[in-house]
Amino acid sequence: MSTSLLRRVTATLVATLAGIVVLLAPGAPASAAPPTWPTINEGDSGITVTTAQLLLRQRGATSVTADGIFGPGTDAAVRAFQSANGLTNDGYVGPLTWVKLVVPAAEGATGDHVRAIQGQLNRHGFGVDVDGIFGPGTAAAVTSFKTARGAASSGSTVDVETWQWLVAYGGQFALPLAKSALPRSEYDDPHHDYPALDLPVGSGTSAYAITGGTVSRVDDSSCGRGIIITSNGIRYIYCHLSNWVATSGATVSAGQLVGYTGNTGNSTGPHLHIGIKTPSTSRCPQSFLLAIYDGRTPPNPATLPTTGCFYTSFAEPYYEDGHL
Ligand SMILES: [Zn+2]
Repeated sequence: MSTSLLRRVTATLVATLAGIVVLLAPGAPASAAPPTWPTINEGDSGITVTTAQLLLRQRGATSVTADGIFGPGTDAAVRAFQSANGLTNDGYVGPLTWVKLVVPAAEGATGDHVRAIQGQLNRHGFGVDVDGIFGPGTAAAVTSFKTARGAASSGSTVDVETWQWLVAYGGQFALPLAKSALPRSEYDDPHHDYPALDLPVGSGTSAYAITGGTVSRVDDSSCGRGIIITSNGIRYIYCHLSNWVATSGATVSAGQLVGYTGNTGNSTGPHLHIGIKTPSTSRCPQSFLLAIYDGRTPPNPATLPTTGCFYTSFAEPYYEDGHL
């Protein structure tokens, strides 16, 4: 065997062994490519807009309000940022703009970019405080998120690729509770008597917006302290809260804290009642929430079933609770 051939064979063997070692490495899945960055512009709303607004603020555009509504002020700030960074100033926040707009961060960082990271973590079910301080809780959530997604870098640093995973993964929806609050199986349970879902959590658990929309607060004998988030004519209903955080008429983004769970109204124990109506038809929310739990884009609520998700006889323990 010639020296060069031997070198080639050795190189191939080493590469093969390296491949096997990678395949056998325990723990994290092999790194995967993140989904494509979303593109937003004037007229859009939701958590992606909030994230862009917080990043613009961190980049110095402090007149921008992080309200999740892409209006003329945000448009002007985006165009100014694009001009200052050698980009076409078209007002569209797409892949080229995101890469320059995101602000990498590590534990100890503070600011609006950290608020953006925390808001996105909550959209992914982590339930962290949105305080703009990159502390140990945020760091643990980032590490867990990156491991689950198979991000190229490890640890808690939020680099450009981690930003892409945070912003682009999983659609614009969030679980109503932190993922750690309940096992997946609780999202699969039938309701007692009509299409809805009762999530058994103790009072005072943070409740988050399932999607972006407009909040109406409810306070009655049936639902107790409740919240309805209306989005494109679809109503996402929360009942039995101990208290509200979001005000009536407020615009909220997916993953935003809206209230705390409780036992108010017609309720025999602390739990969070969740309903989805289109607009007055009660739909089975189970497959919708399970999709969010699994990181999949949930089905169109108008296609959700209206039967098959509640007991017809009360053989199982259930919460007595109100109808909205
Ligand atoms: Zn219920």
